[in-house]
Amino acid sequence: MKDIIEGFMDLVKERNGHEPEFLQAVEEVAETVIPYIVQHDIYHGKNILLRMVEPERAITFRVCWVDDSGEIQVNRGYRVQMNSAIGPYKGGLRFHPTVNMSILKFLAFEQVFKNSLTTLPMGGGKGGSDFDPKGKSDNEIMRFCHSFMSELFRHIGHNTDVPAGDIGVGAREIGFLFGMYKKLRNEFTGVLTGKGMSWGGSLIRPEATGYGTVYFAESMLGTKDDSFKAKRVVISGSGNVAQYAAEKVIQLGGKVLTLSDSSGYIYDADGIDAEKLAFVMELKNIKRGRISEYVKVYPNATFVSGKTPWEVVCDVALPCATQNELNEDDANTLLSNGCMCVSEGANMPSTKEAVTAFHKAKILFAPGKASNAGGVATSGLEMTQNSLRFNWTRNEVDVKLKEIMANIHDTCIQYGKDDDGYVDYVKGANIAGFVKVADAMLAQGIV
Ligand code: NAP
Repeated sequence: MKDIIEGFMDLVKERNGHEPEFLQAVEEVAETVIPYIVQHDIYHGKNILLRMVEPERAITFRVCWVDDSGEIQVNRGYRVQMNSAIGPYKGGLRFHPTVNMSILKFLAFEQVFKNSLTTLPMGGGKGGSDFDPKGKSDNEIMRFCHSFMSELFRHIGHNTDVPAGDIGVGAREIGFLFGMYKKLRNEFTGVLTGKGMSWGGSLIRPEATGYGTVYFAESMLGTKDDSFKAKRVVISGSGNVAQYAAEKVIQLGGKVLTLSDSSGYIYDADGIDAEKLAFVMELKNIKRGRISEYVKVYPNATFVSGKTPWEVVCDVALPCATQNELNEDDANTLLSNGCMCVSEGANMPSTKEAVTAFHKAKILFAPGKASNAGGVATSGLEMTQNSLRFNWTRNEVDVKLKEIMANIHDTCIQYGKDDDGYVDYVKGANIAGFVKVADAMLAQGIV
């Protein structure tokens, strides 16, 4: 088996050798899916995984815009349309200086499996730009978004490709992007998700990824007759996913000890309660401040500069910032401190070695493509509401989100239970995600 997997990875490396994040994401899938393919004749001789690692289409484009001092700035825009076997491409846009083709291909590849797991009819894609929104005025953000959409609009549509937010793209950016799309196409459709509530957005969409990550962890804890009650929870990030993961943990009776950003983390031994979280939301979403400012208002807390929060003793860890933010040493620290459950809110936040350490210790570990699928699932519900020109209530969407997360959890158990009873959620998510997409590709022939 090892030879088959290595042979496959050699082929992928030949074409994508300069894309480390993409290779990391493909290898994790290959290690669990190739053994399944070998056991199932219908996939033999079809090169199905090799077809899945090649994007159906990947575009890059120039994005020129004028900053507040009148200087012309040039950024690069991208859209990776990975797989449309089960529905229109669907996946977020990331605006961050580190964005490149490797990162977007890894995200688009993961998205294919994630979207399949939701059971909704959505293919996978991802896009964005190396534009850095930090420190930009609202007008600069608007000019950039308008310029970005003046090219992207040709490649997307509500039945073709439906982008959403991701790092650096929140409600403000989605608004500017939608405004330009609508002007250029002269149509009002659900071409983007994460829209404002008064113009086609879905209730619970902002909360969905963070809430879903916690619902998934609650299901995992449930397999041990346990829950979030009185659990010490360490969260990284302080953006969209981290904020709403924290909110749901607090609601379920857990104690949130940390939040972070790229400068460091804050540790509040008294717990970040609802009132303190409201302060963080205003600080980050409206004032666009840094998490270190928390300790000025709550002096019992400490700010630890330049570090990630995995050294803090906890029962549950929720990495909600970015890829590869939790390495093998961090995993070993979490394990030696007694951490029993890790649910990924971010995409691929744990390195391969960290995941191996969690699996070896047989703790509860959920990969992002399963545990953070609540965001895209709710985007799928937003697409349905837009098509029907109809709105579900907050409670209706939350009930559907909970159901979807519980179904994903059960599907992971179905495909991921080892002979000794341990649930390998990585294997479960990869195989379940693969089967639906692969079967659709087989049915549609070689296209
Ligand atoms: P966001 O609102 O932009 O927040 C990102 C957070 O992560 C910020 O606190 C940011 O800190 C921190 N961060 C970014 N790069 C970092 C780095 N290199 N080191 C340390 N911290 C870093 O983005 P988000 O929507 O919460 O997304 C977070 C993660 O969840 C990403 O992996 C994303 O792909 C994934 N995800 C998001 C959704 C969604 O619906 N939004 C859905 C599924 C998965 P700074 O401000 O200092 O950069």
